[in-house]
Amino acid sequence: MGLNPGRTVEELRELQEVTGDENGAQRVAWTDTWEQARDWLRGRLEGVPVEEEVDEAGNQWFTLPGGSERALLIGGHIDSVPNGGWLDGALNVMAGVEVLRRIAEEGQPPVTVRLVNWADEEGARFGRSLFGSSAAAGSMADQDELRQRRDNDGVALPDALREHGVDLDRALDARKQLESAAAYLELHIEQGPVLESMDLPLGVVLGTFGVERHQITWKGQAAHAGSTPMDQRRDALAGAAKLDLALREIAAEVGDGAVCTSGNVVCKPGIVTSVVETAEQLLDQRHLDAEKLAELLRLAKERADRFAQEESIEVSWERIWQIEPIRFDETLIGFADEAIREVSGKSHRLPSGPLHDAAEVSRAGVPTVMVFVQSLRGLSHTKLEDTKPEHVEVSVRALDGLASRALVWVAGGGGRS
Ligand SMILES: [Zn+2]
Repeated sequence: MGLNPGRTVEELRELQEVTGDENGAQRVAWTDTWEQARDWLRGRLEGVPVEEEVDEAGNQWFTLPGGSERALLIGGHIDSVPNGGWLDGALNVMAGVEVLRRIAEEGQPPVTVRLVNWADEEGARFGRSLFGSSAAAGSMADQDELRQRRDNDGVALPDALREHGVDLDRALDARKQLESAAAYLELHIEQGPVLESMDLPLGVVLGTFGVERHQITWKGQAAHAGSTPMDQRRDALAGAAKLDLALREIAAEVGDGAVCTSGNVVCKPGIVTSVVETAEQLLDQRHLDAEKLAELLRLAKERADRFAQEESIEVSWERIWQIEPIRFDETLIGFADEAIREVSGKSHRLPSGPLHDAAEVSRAGVPTVMVFVQSLRGLSHTKLEDTKPEHVEVSVRALDGLASRALVWVAGGGGRS
């Protein structure tokens, strides 16, 4: 019978029917509806010769044993945000199911193939995203803090997890799941406007952005708006305003998809009759290349110093948060390009702004790649999230072509040994 991408669309609609309501998907991790979705997924794989296992972090694995223990992994997450869309996470899982069926139908594969449904990618209930994948990757380092977390009803995170068979203290034991992993593939909706604006159904993800977040504090002197001549002011807001506009030049100078955002400026005293004394400005800078990310920050600081001098004000910086860029595997990126061209004629390479489970797997040293499928209007995390059914189907074909290539590669000794 072979690959049947139309079935993926039908199954995704059915999942939405079973676990959603008029406001959208309700598969929030560590809830009954999420458990129901996992049971439903189990049912979809009946008749396929896979072994199911739920690991210590709650990740649900379906393993098709192959000629070797080395494993090709395909992953996604069936959990959603409250009032979420029908595709975010679930598409990855159901496309993986279809590919697994196709491979199983052809007999024992040369290497083991595993589908993983990561637990709590969204972090919707407790505010901790990538729970299951970070446990499996061994990068989860915030258990002490997680023990204190509570949901909106006051339920503690460890108690909610225990109800679903997960002991937080043992979550990191899920690390053994990645020991045999040779390569990891993930399909996802883009959740942004790039592919639609280029009129392309599919793209290859190069990696996830590194991020630098800072609070910049500009200090001038409050002075009366009526009595202070224009050339005698020390206006803190002028520094923030100049820097905001300079971000456009800085991003253009560094290029290669650099983005910089000043998301807020809080002014004090913040009244109509005073020059601004203090301006607290937020800055978010992102790049796929670590050196270029550092260059973005260096240029912003250089400009800020100049503006402070021009305006006779002071400027200081405080880092709020930072994460390194994650680069996906070059060989797998090449395979994904080929698979996309085969099913839709043209491929495009793009970075991912949001983090994904794939980033955690990649951080753990497993060669990884993602494929994005076009999102209509760039919308996600809302019931309005949508992708044309024909694009969903072509994305399943692309994942299948990518899996075929990766399987041959891993069987020939490629990927992590
Ligand atoms: Zn997702």
